[in-house]
Amino acid sequence: MAQTYHIITFGCQMNKNDSEHLAGMLEFNGAKHTAEPEAADILVLNTCAVRDKAERRVYGQLAKYNFLRQKNNSGQKLFLSGCMPAYNKTELQKAAPFLDGFLDIEEARQYPPRRENSPEVWVTIMQGCNNFCAYCIVPRARGRERSRTAEDILAEINKIDFTGRAVLFLLGQNVNSYAGTFNGQPLSFPALLQLILTKCPAVPKLAFLTSHPKDMTDALLEVIAREPRIDRELHLPAQSGSDRILALMNRGYTAAQYRALTARIRARAPDVQLSTDIIAGFPTETEAEFEDSCRLVRETGFFRVNTAGYSARRGTAAAQMPRLEQKIVDARLNKINQLINSLKSAHT
Ligand code: SF4
Repeated sequence: MAQTYHIITFGCQMNKNDSEHLAGMLEFNGAKHTAEPEAADILVLNTCAVRDKAERRVYGQLAKYNFLRQKNNSGQKLFLSGCMPAYNKTELQKAAPFLDGFLDIEEARQYPPRRENSPEVWVTIMQGCNNFCAYCIVPRARGRERSRTAEDILAEINKIDFTGRAVLFLLGQNVNSYAGTFNGQPLSFPALLQLILTKCPAVPKLAFLTSHPKDMTDALLEVIAREPRIDRELHLPAQSGSDRILALMNRGYTAAQYRALTARIRARAPDVQLSTDIIAGFPTETEAEFEDSCRLVRETGFFRVNTAGYSARRGTAAAQMPRLEQKIVDARLNKINQLINSLKSAHT
């Protein structure tokens, strides 16, 4: 009898898309999906390592399902995939010796995705990152940037049935540094967007995640301004409003450059709405530098701000820096969230 499987996905849209490929790989090998994690013969946790909290959640789930499978004597097989094993497999094997194994995302990506039934549909166009922001584990977990060919991407998109789908998300850890090829010739990200809009008429709306401010070129802005099928929500992580902290983070731009970029976007595409990410409590951040971040949020008028307290990731440059006390990190996170809520209620 066909085995059943269930995948629990943690983290970002890229992990959701990876889980679709993991499902495709398991189904190609004869397994059938079940909605019941406890009842599955094969349980896969597709993990996120962006913050300590995310990893602790995974360990919690592992302990829970290991306990349940013993209590039920179910013989369930437990597998891990995603960012945690990609940079930390040895430690995982020590911490969870009961694991039955690891599923490799690169291998799963060879299989067609079993897509979720959602208004959003995801296609990953590149993986990895060359930026090495001081707080980020991605370059260690996902390696250097590698972009798919346009032919590959177009073929995948044109196989998608867009009935009931509202928006196609192009995904990459640093999506706007896409550097692929078309007919063997180099192809930039703005050119890829234009190509998809031309060769994939069924795409209702095209969005992309996650951009880096330093790769937001005038050519990209031109395509966004010119093409109404491109989503009007643009996510542009600032992370901080302080020049000294941005330099320590190795973000590659200053607060003034970030502000100038948002002004340029608003001038060229006034209907575009910006969202961002802010880290509160980065190592050595002073109260005044934290206020710089608050001021950036107050003055830029983002429609959404994702916030996080700094969380040290082993192996990153920031993990070597002197950290603030956790209560200061928590207090600043709380303060900026209150600011964001007050700005929201002021606009509603
Ligand atoms: S650009 Fe994004 S993915 Fe790359 S290192 Fe920086 S934060 Fe991480």
